[in-house]
Amino acid sequence: MANILVTGGAGFIGGNFVHFWNARNPEDHVVVLDALTYAGNRSTIAGATNADLVEGDIRDQGLVEQLLRERDIATIVHFAAESHVDRSISGPDAFIDTNILGTNSLLKAARSVWLDGDGKEHRFHHISTDEVFGSLGNDDPAFSETTPYAPNSPYSASKAASDHLVRAYHHTYGLEVTTSNCSNNYGPYQYPEKLIPLFFLNALSGKPLPIYGDGMNVRDWLHVEDHCCGIEACLTKGQPGETYNIGGGAELPNMEVIDAICREVDRAFEEVAGLAERYPDAPAAKGGKSDSLKTFVTDRAGHDRRYAIDETKARGELGYSAAHGFDEGLRQTLRWYLDNEDWWRPLLTREA
Ligand code: NAD
Repeated sequence: MANILVTGGAGFIGGNFVHFWNARNPEDHVVVLDALTYAGNRSTIAGATNADLVEGDIRDQGLVEQLLRERDIATIVHFAAESHVDRSISGPDAFIDTNILGTNSLLKAARSVWLDGDGKEHRFHHISTDEVFGSLGNDDPAFSETTPYAPNSPYSASKAASDHLVRAYHHTYGLEVTTSNCSNNYGPYQYPEKLIPLFFLNALSGKPLPIYGDGMNVRDWLHVEDHCCGIEACLTKGQPGETYNIGGGAELPNMEVIDAICREVDRAFEEVAGLAERYPDAPAAKGGKSDSLKTFVTDRAGHDRRYAIDETKARGELGYSAAHGFDEGLRQTLRWYLDNEDWWRPLLTREA
């Protein structure tokens, strides 16, 4: 039995991780530290079986030290971040504050409590992104753990800086850290500003599906449950000081993902009773096709062309491999949104 601290646990991946950890380790108590920004949501973890939410900021070093001491915590899984690339382009400051200064503050707290005491076993696991490696050409080899960093957006630059800090706290102070760099996640509880939930909910309400550039930017899609398995493998089998790439094995151009969403929406209207009454503005409710909503818009500034993950190391050293195929994972995700309108509906009108 142990207590673990999950930062950003009221967000998308962190929230999924809280449920995953509770199911796999029912004896462990999960302390969630989350500032509840626009992206955080109490209801995501309201049903968690063995967790409590502390509303607070990772930049509050005193609070983090107090939690580590009073709750006897020796494991931190660090998800908290500003995570949306488009927001980092319109307003980079919050990304610097939370992703760089916040991670540094958390590391300082961990160092002060874990390394100044009796030197007991501990672990700081940092969640990062494949975006730190920059952009690939179509024929370039996939990112490995030794690919040089070349972040292109304020978001990825802030994540790169946080990765370097985590590495430095290991090298300089001996803090036991691991880092995972993962690809694009999808699954339940994702805030509807990200591609899959945004396009799905727009298709349900008959709104345009805004496609950046030519729609041929390539991403590797990772089901969030597979990501949670990868994080668990890092915590249990990862070596301190090491980094691991976690991918979904589903490298797809955005347009293929968008076509798959459109097909799934049209299919849901054929298979699920009552959808035409619930979503009368969807093309599929009037005998039309969701792909009629596709609209090309000006490309994102500095839009990276392709990301791809070489996960040989995680497979060999951690025994990690993704279990979800993209088509099945997407269908399950979209059906989750249909079944959980109470979760996403209030977010559409939330102040961000
Ligand atoms: P998210 O935006 O859904 O959630 C972030 C959470 O962090 C929110 O609950 C928010 O309230 C909280 N938070 C923000 N600032 C905070 C602060 N200063 N103190 C405490 N809490 C704060 O993000 P996500 O998609 O779940 O991503 C989680 C992590 O995974 C991030 O570090 C992100 O960089 C990384 N990542 C995400 C993806 C993806 O596809 N979503 C891909 C690669 C890496």
